[in-house]
Amino acid sequence: MAKATSARVPANLVTDPARIQETLDAFYAKLFEAWGRQHWWPGETPFEVMVGAILTQNTNWTNVEKAIANLKREGMLDAQALHYAPIERIAELIRPSGFFNVKAKRLKNFLDFYFCEAGGSYARLNSLPTRELRTKLLAINGLGPETADSILLYALNRPVFVVDAYTRRLLRRHFLIRGDEDYEAIRDLFESNVAKSRKLFNEYHALIVRAGKYHCKPTAKCEGCPLAGFERDERL
Ligand code: SF4
Repeated sequence: MAKATSARVPANLVTDPARIQETLDAFYAKLFEAWGRQHWWPGETPFEVMVGAILTQNTNWTNVEKAIANLKREGMLDAQALHYAPIERIAELIRPSGFFNVKAKRLKNFLDFYFCEAGGSYARLNSLPTRELRTKLLAINGLGPETADSILLYALNRPVFVVDAYTRRLLRRHFLIRGDEDYEAIRDLFESNVAKSRKLFNEYHALIVRAGKYHCKPTAKCEGCPLAGFERDERL
């Protein structure tokens, strides 16, 4: 999860609910028009998506792919196998994803939850209501809201918006947030103002990540960005 930053309140911060709604819809339309479907989340099974969501914390996706390939090669991308494997073995296989000891522990914590709560069954896990599931995922040691929501949206198909550092930066540059809002406030901004659809949330987050990776970097590269026509804070 991105850390809240101390923020100056820009004079043109958008506070009118109708304008917020209109702007978020317009952003999505522009991004989708430019780049189309992003086919997220890359993963062959929901379990792979859950593991990927945990491994991707603080690293780039290429490193996660290497870690996932190692797990697959060893027949360990399987709930049962991973649950009973020694933590040291998991750490060794996921080494390319960085912070591998911490992440091995997080995977173990998640698997303890998965077996304790749902007997290792995706169907049983997915039978829980979204709110209850989110609360339980957030209670797992080492799982922050971005990871929990990625699991909910991309592995369990729930209409929950995923917020990351790219989202925060983009919204701040376009006067939709001050920048010091917490994760839940930004999630709520989307969930209350765009159609609550898991398909839309799936694409919207993926499109924001693409914008963040290629344009809305620490130094904005607005030329060629689909959102270049929108009013933005030139100082950021
Ligand atoms: S790169 Fe520029 S135009 Fe694109 S989202 Fe960031 S601030 Fe907006």
